[in-house]
Formats: sequence, structure tokens, C-alpha cells
Amino acid sequence: MTKTILRLLTRLSEAGDDAILPGELAAPFFGPVFDRLLAKRVLVEQAPLADWDVCDACECGLPCRPIRKAGDGYRAECPLDRRQDIEFTEDDLRVFRIGSEALASVIGLAAGFQAAPKLAAGKVWRLGDTSSGRAVFLALEPAALTCDGIIATLRQAAQGSDITILAPELPAEAARRHHDAGVHLIETLAVLMPVSDGLGAAIDVAALAPIPLSSVLRVRRTAAEVQWDGRSVILSRQIFPVFERLLEKALSRDQVASGSHVEGTTAREAKDLIRELRDAFKAAGFTDAESKALVVTVRNRGYRLGIPAFEIAVEA
Ligand SMILES: [Zn+2]
Repeated sequence: MTKTILRLLTRLSEAGDDAILPGELAAPFFGPVFDRLLAKRVLVEQAPLADWDVCDACECGLPCRPIRKAGDGYRAECPLDRRQDIEFTEDDLRVFRIGSEALASVIGLAAGFQAAPKLAAGKVWRLGDTSSGRAVFLALEPAALTCDGIIATLRQAAQGSDITILAPELPAEAARRHHDAGVHLIETLAVLMPVSDGLGAAIDVAALAPIPLSSVLRVRRTAAEVQWDGRSVILSRQIFPVFERLLEKALSRDQVASGSHVEGTTAREAKDLIRELRDAFKAAGFTDAESKALVVTVRNRGYRLGIPAFEIAVEA
């Protein structure tokens, strides 16, 4: 994927208040977009680096190595071993702090929200509302969404609207809590896509709402047939048992089937079986997104059907 400065800053901002962009990473992005980010104080230039760590296990006894001008560039010298010297360009020494609120504002703009974001909880901003009435929040650091009471706080802020949160990857347990609370959690980097104009990245508003899965999923076991959303799919003898294992889980308390459960007694890897299952739905006319919404990947845990048990009807 094309590199964009906004994606890079979004990833670096996960470090929270300490988030910085080192000059070495910044240099390839110097240009008009970078200047605009400086003007908006998404990036705030700090004093340049003046010293560097001593080399590993060095016996020089220095607390750090001063960085000195050397020819066209700069150098941090090891007093004991010249081979350990580190060379820098002037750009390498530049340091930019990432302003989280300004970055939140720019990500909001990338998603088409014109108004400045409002702080809704510690380090969680409300970017705005979609035309369909979803309240869209943004968290830059995982810690902002793992603290106690955050779901209640955001619910209160949303005042009854459905909630979408753009966030970094969360620990599985926290992600499940949000999911169970009906929050639509999206990884910001999964939807912040490169574009050629503006700030070089944009979020498609359509990505902010979950794909509605309102229709009943009907399964006819003897025929290995799955009917959903007006379409019918006959699954092969090899792949129907995989679907059945997901189905069995969907109707139980913990709806997630682990990889090994999906594999069953086959000698094949779960991800291949899942791909084949999704391909069968795509062959019947479902889009890639729909097939992934029906057969959902649950990061680090396995797979589940994206349909609640009460909307599933199983026949013999
Ligand atoms: Zn040294």
C-alpha cells in the first residue's frame, strides 16, 4: 500500500503523549502536505537531537554521546571505537511532536466531518455524526478504550445514537466488550486509504456503518443449502461441515469457533477452509464485504457467523 504521512502519524500516535515523528521517517514526506500538517500543528517541530545513546555495552563511561558537526553532516562518536560512530544528516536530527487533538481533527476531515472534534472522554474525540445518524468517535491510543466505564461514557455522549469508534487494534478482551455493547469498532488504519489530493488519505463514510445483516439465515442440512438475503448457496460436501461447525458455535454461548475447531478432522488450515467458504458465497453473488460480514474473522480467536442466533433458522 502507498505510504501516506497520515497513516504513519496515526500509527505513531498510538504511543500517546510521547508520540514523535523522527526526522529520518519524516524526510520522505517533506513537501506541501507536510507543511500543511505543520501549519495545523498536527506536527510541532522540537529542538533538534543534540545527543545519542552510547553504544551497547560501551566502557566509555559517558551518559550519552554528543552529536557534533562533521563535514557535511553530523556524527555521534564513540571515544573508544570509531567503528561505532553514527552518522546523521541534518534531517535525521529533526524531531516532530505529534499533536493528538490536531491529528484527530485532520482524521475527522479525512472522513468528511467539517466541524472540529469534541473531546468526549479522556483521549476519545467525537468526530461527528454520519448522515444516517451514527455517532462517530476516534481514539488514537488503545488505552483510551480499555479504561473502566468508557462504554457508558461514550453511550451517554452519543445520546441514544448508534456508535462507531475508529481506533487502533485493541486487546481481544476489550474489543469483545465493545462488540458486545453493540459498538461498531473499526481499525482506523483499515479504512484510512491513500488518495491523491488533500492530505493524501481519506475515509469512505460507507465504511463507518456496519453492513446490515437483518435478514434471516436459513440452513437446510440435508441439502447443504444456505439461504441468506434473497440468495441461495449449495455448499460442497467438503465445505458444508466447516459451515456447520460455525453454525453450531453461533447457536451456543460463545459464538467464536477457534481455528482448530474450524479445521475439525480435516488436514487443512482454518484460513484456507474459511477462504473457500467465503468464495462459495461470493460465487453465489455476495460481495467480498458481505461474505466477510457473514463469516467474520475474530482477531486472535477464530471465526464466527455474523448473524445472531435468533435470526438463524435450521431445518433438517
Ligand atoms: Zn562506545
